[in-house]
Amino acid sequence: MNMAEVPAGAQGVSKPETKEPLIIAENINKHFGQFHVIKDVSTKFYQGEVTVIIGASGSGKSTFLRMLNRLETHDSGRIVIDGIVLDDDLKHIDAVRAEVGMVFQSFNLFPHLTVMDNITLAPRRLRGVTRAQAEETAKGLLAKVGMSAHSHKYPHQLSGGQQQRVAIARSLAMQPKVMLFDEPTSALDPEMIKEVLDVMKDLARGGMTMIVVTHEMGFAREVADRVIFFEKGQILEEAPPAEFFGNARNERIRSFLGQIA
Ligand code: ADP
Ligand code: MG
Repeated sequence: MNMAEVPAGAQGVSKPETKEPLIIAENINKHFGQFHVIKDVSTKFYQGEVTVIIGASGSGKSTFLRMLNRLETHDSGRIVIDGIVLDDDLKHIDAVRAEVGMVFQSFNLFPHLTVMDNITLAPRRLRGVTRAQAEETAKGLLAKVGMSAHSHKYPHQLSGGQQQRVAIARSLAMQPKVMLFDEPTSALDPEMIKEVLDVMKDLARGGMTMIVVTHEMGFAREVADRVIFFEKGQILEEAPPAEFFGNARNERIRSFLGQIA
């Protein structure tokens, strides 16, 4: 067969190693006092890749994610995001934060601002975008997350699932190159989880680079390119979902999956 006729990814090798990683984490260590929370973690994230991070509570998933936009510092090792070294230089930190969006478990919308103002605030304040431009963009984003009818409402008038969808739209308004999600559906009632996961699936299909800490294994199986299992501050396993769920080699992982299934 002429290889030129083979669609990208058709051979199951959609992310060739020759591609430049968007995020490099190299030998990352982090302590909270005496507690060694992240232990020599190294991994890379590629453009357009969806990575799901799982692991027991307290294994360091949030800390690791938060280090990728400097909400936490790392003690040693190297983090490079889109060519920018994440260090003490405030210019680097600002540059990285401009490229990294984050969505938290607790939606974190500004309670005193409408949905529209929640989304347009940062682009207007930090990017110098005019109100008209920012609102135009916001309308598109609200449509994308299925919230067009709610732009005038305040967060307390929305369900948890709706608030989280607005939080995603707010993050997207800054045109991030990568989106980090820290248990985005963990605080939601079961009937609202799907609407948020559906928005995330759409984003993934649109090519967004995503790193998602979640216990939603259906999402991981369906959407992830790679699953990383954290244990006690280390990466115990990383593999494509079919391999990860199909034949988890490690007893710890099998036991974890048994508990949350
Ligand atoms: P996970 O997200 O996997 O549940 P975390 O990264 O939140 O894990 O936490 C890992 C460990 O670090 C936990 O034992 C937690 O108590 C501890 N920890 C997290 N944040 C802090 C902090 N700011 N100060 C001290 N200990 C912390
Ligand atoms: Mg956490």
